[in-house]
Amino acid sequence: MFDAHTHLQDARFDACRAALLEAAAAAGVTGLCTCGTAPDDWDGVAQLAADTTAPVTILPAFGVHSWYADNLPSDWPDRLDACLRAHPGAAVGEIGIDGLRRDLDPVAQRNNFIVQLELAVRHQRTVVVHGARCWGSLADLLQPYAARLPGIVLHAFAASEPLIRRFHDLGAYFSFAGSVCNPNARRVRAAAAAVPPDRLLIETDTPDILPPGGQPVSAVPHDPPLNQPANLPLVAQAVAHIRGLDVAELGAVVERNARRVYGLGEPT
Ligand SMILES: [Zn+2]
Repeated sequence: MFDAHTHLQDARFDACRAALLEAAAAAGVTGLCTCGTAPDDWDGVAQLAADTTAPVTILPAFGVHSWYADNLPSDWPDRLDACLRAHPGAAVGEIGIDGLRRDLDPVAQRNNFIVQLELAVRHQRTVVVHGARCWGSLADLLQPYAARLPGIVLHAFAASEPLIRRFHDLGAYFSFAGSVCNPNARRVRAAAAAVPPDRLLIETDTPDILPPGGQPVSAVPHDPPLNQPANLPLVAQAVAHIRGLDVAELGAVVERNARRVYGLGEPT
């Protein structure tokens, strides 16, 4: 099964990343997408993607997260453009807008998102998108670009109908994170039941969203504890249960979908 959204390049994992990858492979994870968040972690993403000894497929994504839309170096769009040229298979992410963080400048978030959507169209790359608590505005912003993008991944999806239908019509894929394991997360669980099977993805969002019962990264004590890709089967179990599938079936579905949206071809 494929982990559609992580930040495994996070520098806190420098001393234990190889062990985390081994644990992920042992847990049945076949591949993952690791998403940049700002120019200063793009080298880490590139290094991780260049690791030919990794026991799982690693897809790099480069982008500026909405949380880091302020105080960027003025040449960041050129640097992102260069990164995408240097990595022809890479996605663009994590990009988007955030309705939870009132401290962020909404205009800067929106402008940076649009710059990155335009780069993704120019380079014909899939986008990995964050839309916490502002899924409607996100759909409005994606609308003019959707038909020209090869793929859209909505990470940690948590909206309900009619937005599911609207995003579906834009060609988007819906990725569910560890919150789907929480029985009280009614909207997320209803969405995990409702999205079409050919658009369904799962993710850990490592190092965030440790699912209930998940193994924290013991090598890096942290409050809250850090998540890892080896916890993906917990997300798979929750989504499989919600959809009335067995975990192996669900794993095969999300693997196929992830490989299609990320342009990775068949598993080896
Ligand atoms: Zn993320």
